[in-house]
Amino acid sequence: MSVPKIVVLGAGYGGLMTVKGLQKHLHYNEAEITLVNQNAYHYITTKLHEPAAGTSHHDHARLSIRSVINERKVNFIQDKVTAIKLDEKKVFLENNDPISYDYLVIGLGSSPETFGIKGLMENAFFIRNIDSVRMIREHMEYMFSRYQNEQKDELITIVVGGAGFTGIEYIGELVDRMPELCHEYDIPLEKVRIVNVEAAPTVLPGFDKELVEYAVKYLEGKGVEFITGTPIEECTTDGVVLKGGQEIKAATVVWTGGVRGNKLVEESGLETMRGRVKVDEYLRAPGHENVFVVGDSSLIFNDEGRPYPPTAQMATQQGQVLGKNLVALIRGGEMKPFKYMPKGTVASLGRKEAIGTVGDKKIFGGWAAFVKKMIDLRWLFLLGGVSLVLRKGKL
Ligand code: FAD
Ligand code: NAD
Repeated sequence: MSVPKIVVLGAGYGGLMTVKGLQKHLHYNEAEITLVNQNAYHYITTKLHEPAAGTSHHDHARLSIRSVINERKVNFIQDKVTAIKLDEKKVFLENNDPISYDYLVIGLGSSPETFGIKGLMENAFFIRNIDSVRMIREHMEYMFSRYQNEQKDELITIVVGGAGFTGIEYIGELVDRMPELCHEYDIPLEKVRIVNVEAAPTVLPGFDKELVEYAVKYLEGKGVEFITGTPIEECTTDGVVLKGGQEIKAATVVWTGGVRGNKLVEESGLETMRGRVKVDEYLRAPGHENVFVVGDSSLIFNDEGRPYPPTAQMATQQGQVLGKNLVALIRGGEMKPFKYMPKGTVASLGRKEAIGTVGDKKIFGGWAAFVKKMIDLRWLFLLGGVSLVLRKGKL
């Protein structure tokens, strides 16, 4: 007897949570579950700013997918998805035959939003995955290593474009890393420039004012320069050009100016807004009862009609609900509508500092940093229980 084929694309927060739910609740003979991901590992996106700055090794931000799935129930294919053909109900892969599905879950994450800014794709770095953060760290270190010979200030100037949470968390790591890096390359710490350029009038636009002030004061105290209300208009091999013509020479430019959905989703023919699919209450793509979209590829609006920001918190909750809903669907039961329950936002400012809101409480400093670490550990717990926390967790 043939069983329904469920294909999950992407082993990120949304995809893995869906698979965890499926493998927990479905019996061996109830469905054929396939997970496709381009790497053999899951990267913990919420920690990528650490290896990007070099404050931790990139192995701390990834784990083997096979170690957290049940391979007797889930068929894992390590391959790159090259196309999704909805009319054929097939997914095309780079190195394997196309796979067909009855139910498709798209959890392919996001890609950098560059707003068509000239030179950005070619000359800037992005905090995106393990490969990209490894490149940032190694590039920055190489630039620092050249400083003693060449004595050019731009070699030890780092521009971060965008002061959203990714930009701010990355800068927090950079200020932690600098003393050690400068010591290693015999560079006086005060000579290093870290410049954060933000188009909006403030850093972390829309976030609590008092917490933003705390973050800015802390980072400025560590020597960070903020330029707000001024968009980057061009990125060159020499640095960036801001609106109004000011040029900042920098050998390292890291773009953290926002994200959009994965290109493959747009190319699939699904209706998208900035690459993201506005899903219905069951996380289905409009017009496709058997296609579900989770995480950064999906778009959900709050009660005021504003889109929720794409976060790991959202992707995790979606995956948890979708896993159960697919089980219900296969067994002829009823699906439950998805309702996002925001639990708060905590952003690190390096290892020992953070800011955040939890419920209606504001937190900052060492306590917030501790809460942030607990959130990271919770993800490991959801994936692999206490044993994974003990194996991979880092305080
Ligand atoms: P992802 O976790 O990005 O996973 C997508 C998966 O799809 C990846 O495994 C990728 O390899 C795979 N994939 C992509 N394309 C293909 C392809 N063509 N073929 C095969 N596989 C493919 N959110 C929070 O809630 N809290 C935080 O503290 C937080 N911190 C962050 C810090 C940083 C530095 C960044 C960059 C983001 C942070 N976010 C945070 C946002 C959060 O990481 C994302 O919203 C979350 O990762 C989205 O999950 P996802 O499942 O949609 O995709
Ligand atoms: P973002 O969209 O939140 O922030 C991008 C910032 O770049 C904005 O402030 C924007 O004004 C600015 N910007 C855009 N164009 C610019 C330009 N030309 N010049 C200068 N600045 C420009 O993107 P992000 O920070 O990458 O975050 C992506 C998602 O991940 C968000 O949903 C965020 O909430 C989430 N995230 C959460 C955490 C956390 O909870 N700790 C950490 C990182 C990311």
